[in-house]
Amino acid sequence: MRPEPVREIVIVGGGTAGWMTAAALAQVLGPGQRIRLVESEEIGTIGVGEATIPNIRHFNAALEIDEDEFIRATQGTFKLGIQFCDWGRVGDAYIHGFGNVGPDLGLVPFHHYWLKMRALGRAPGLEAFQINTAAPEQAKFQRPDPALRGSPLGDVGYAFHFDAGLYARFLRQRAESRGVQRVEGRIVRVHQRERDGFVESVLLANGETVAGQLFVDCSGLRGLLIEREDFELFGASSWLQVMTGQYLMPRGWHPLVDQRSDDEVAALVAHCAQVVANCLQRMPTQQDFIERHCRAPKPEMA
Ligand SMILES: Cc1cc2nc3c(=O)[nH]c(=O)nc-3n(C[C@H](O)[C@H](O)[C@H](O)COP(=O)(O)OP(=O)(O)OC[C@H]3O[C@@H](n4cnc5c(N)ncnc54)[C@H](O)[C@@H]3O)c2cc1C
Repeated sequence: MRPEPVREIVIVGGGTAGWMTAAALAQVLGPGQRIRLVESEEIGTIGVGEATIPNIRHFNAALEIDEDEFIRATQGTFKLGIQFCDWGRVGDAYIHGFGNVGPDLGLVPFHHYWLKMRALGRAPGLEAFQINTAAPEQAKFQRPDPALRGSPLGDVGYAFHFDAGLYARFLRQRAESRGVQRVEGRIVRVHQRERDGFVESVLLANGETVAGQLFVDCSGLRGLLIEREDFELFGASSWLQVMTGQYLMPRGWHPLVDQRSDDEVAALVAHCAQVVANCLQRMPTQQDFIERHCRAPKPEMA
């Protein structure tokens, strides 16, 4: 027997999670489903400043969101990495940049060459080899340039800081324009189906019942329906920068590195740092980039 197709979807909660879910489902599902979102103004949302990781760009891209419009609407800025303070020792800090460290050298990843030269005292810190860790020092930013594939400027990983409340509002407009219905009300009871425990409806304080076949819990810390927290992972290709930031230094490097003379490897590593430094020269400051592409209008004075 074929399972009954899901036609009635109910999202519980209208913070960032709720409106992200609503906008995404409205975008990818056809017109055959009714999507409703229940939220309570009385309870409100967290809606603080949101610091994100690069996966958010995949999400926005899937929703065909114009990035400049998004930055303006959420009063956002660009973010190249995360700075960790006092992790290795008090007073120390390192940046986990959202991109690759060093160029793609084929069989043996760059960091093996760096490890050997570092052990010999012939290489600077890892931050010199990644545009994402070098650029924040000079408050510089640009998006990756696809025409510069293979250059550090073709490989700028980034995410955003933005106002979570404004992001939810921005996505709400998109979701509602694609047919999502917002239901205002405080949920006071969750009804589960007796035979298998599936949620089948929620009861609002005003006595209204909202029924559905699929419920998505976006009620924040309350976890009205699920009572468990999600987790997220950094999509880093090498954890070396995190390890060195915490003073965990791998002792070895790939044996193929030893096939080249130390001077040859030192020249290669120095060249890689020089390429990053040259790219940095060409990069605009974040301020200039925002002015040129996505400056938000000045707030109107009352
Ligand atoms: C100070 C601070 C800093 C943070 N910084 C970051 C950060 O940098 N990066 C990051 O990713 N995260 C950060 N977070 C966490 C992040 O902001 C929150 O996890 C996120 O905003 C929560 O969004 P949400 O949609 O899950 O929940 P909420 O914003 O809490 O929304 C919950 C929704 O559920 C509804 N709801 C709840 N109960 C009911 C009910 N009984 N009936 C009807 N509706 C109900 C509410 O009305 C609301 O619409 C931070 C949080 C705080 C507090």
